[in-house]
Amino acid sequence: MTVRAIRKERAWLHRPVRLLTNSRWILRLLICAAVVVLASCRAFEAPRQRVLIVGIDGASPRVLDTMFSMGKLENLKALADAGTYGPLRSETPYLLSPRVWTTVATGMIPDKHLIDGWVKVAKDGTAGLFYSSDRRGHALWNIVSDSGKRVAVVNWLVTYPPEKVNGIIVSDHTLPGEVEGKKYIGEIFAKGRGAEFRGVESAGSGTSPIYPEEWKKAVLDSRHEKAVLTKVASPFREGAAIGFDPFLHNLRDFWNTDQRLASITLEILERERPDVTMVLLQGIDRMSHFLFGCLDDPAKYPPTFQPTPEQRINCQSALYDYYEFSDQLIGRLLEYFDDDDLIMVLSDHGFESGFSEFRTGDHSTEAAQDGICVVRGPRVIKHGPVAPMTVADVTPTVLAWMGLAQALDMDGKPAPFLEPGPAIQSVPTYDTKPIERLGDGKSGAEPQVIEQLRSLGYIE
Ligand SMILES: [Zn+2]
Repeated sequence: MTVRAIRKERAWLHRPVRLLTNSRWILRLLICAAVVVLASCRAFEAPRQRVLIVGIDGASPRVLDTMFSMGKLENLKALADAGTYGPLRSETPYLLSPRVWTTVATGMIPDKHLIDGWVKVAKDGTAGLFYSSDRRGHALWNIVSDSGKRVAVVNWLVTYPPEKVNGIIVSDHTLPGEVEGKKYIGEIFAKGRGAEFRGVESAGSGTSPIYPEEWKKAVLDSRHEKAVLTKVASPFREGAAIGFDPFLHNLRDFWNTDQRLASITLEILERERPDVTMVLLQGIDRMSHFLFGCLDDPAKYPPTFQPTPEQRINCQSALYDYYEFSDQLIGRLLEYFDDDDLIMVLSDHGFESGFSEFRTGDHSTEAAQDGICVVRGPRVIKHGPVAPMTVADVTPTVLAWMGLAQALDMDGKPAPFLEPGPAIQSVPTYDTKPIERLGDGKSGAEPQVIEQLRSLGYIE
């Protein structure tokens, strides 16, 4: 056997070993390649897309259009220019904020979510507010939580007692101004239904208005009360009286409450960076009840209530200042978001003139049925159509944007301005388990709901 032949034979004999060695190398190479791919994937990882929904209760398309044409409301205008803007329709002329904001949050009509208005009358003839335990249907914050993402909800109506979400709920019974407001409104609506108002259950009842309770101290900290977040000088500050003295303190309180809520939301955004943030500012609605009529012909005012021309001008400019102030609060929140995120600014209805006692604005007829929707983000068609979007379409739109399934028991659908994403199988419902909340918040109806869903085959 020649030396060459021996080498060849050895080579043959050692082949499996070499193969083994080679496969080790291949394995090493594969591991290295995987590490490189993973590292580069990490570097090019899709940015975490987040959602901000700001409710500005009662914001009117008429005021927005006027102020846009005056070159005001810089932040809302920039959103509208980068995305789109249009009317958001409330499906009902019964325009009470709790029912509309609950439709926004659930994608369901009031007959389904059962939050009918401000108060419910019990069999004993007394009236109480609607609470979160009265709501049927999972809200966007429950759905997002169950999908493993984090939420923050600040001052959304009918969120007390707060639900145990994956994130934070600062309920609408947290700030004294909000609780006072509900007492005032509750009394009016109870009286209107011939019932005695039972009062507001909130912090005093022992259940924290904030979930988780660890956030209570930070939320109630006085720094939020003292925060000054905008450059707009308050028309309601001392020495800048607009001439409507009997309710000046109310107007001042609305201003302070919205600023405080925005400040609380900023702290949550800073510390938590939630996937979905929902905040409701109600100042524009409350302000407009006092001031909206001054945008209209003075002949509309009743003879018993005739403001002077100077009062009317002051009142108009105070209303515009409040919109400008709200726009700047929104601008502060936007500092925590970028072009990869979905931003929606919404109102539950518009406004119209309407006079009773010293109030000049109202939202009780079809004239106030359209609120506003200003939206921008990836897949939002630039200057795309908003109409015929309704308040029930908000949650389905956010779910579609986030790649979460539509639920067949929702009444809304994704908005026309949203480019379709990958097809996702719908689910029959998201209400497949009871919602947990702080305190004795069980409505007592959960077993029936579960039984109903089971009988329909939605759950096993
Ligand atoms: Zn109102």
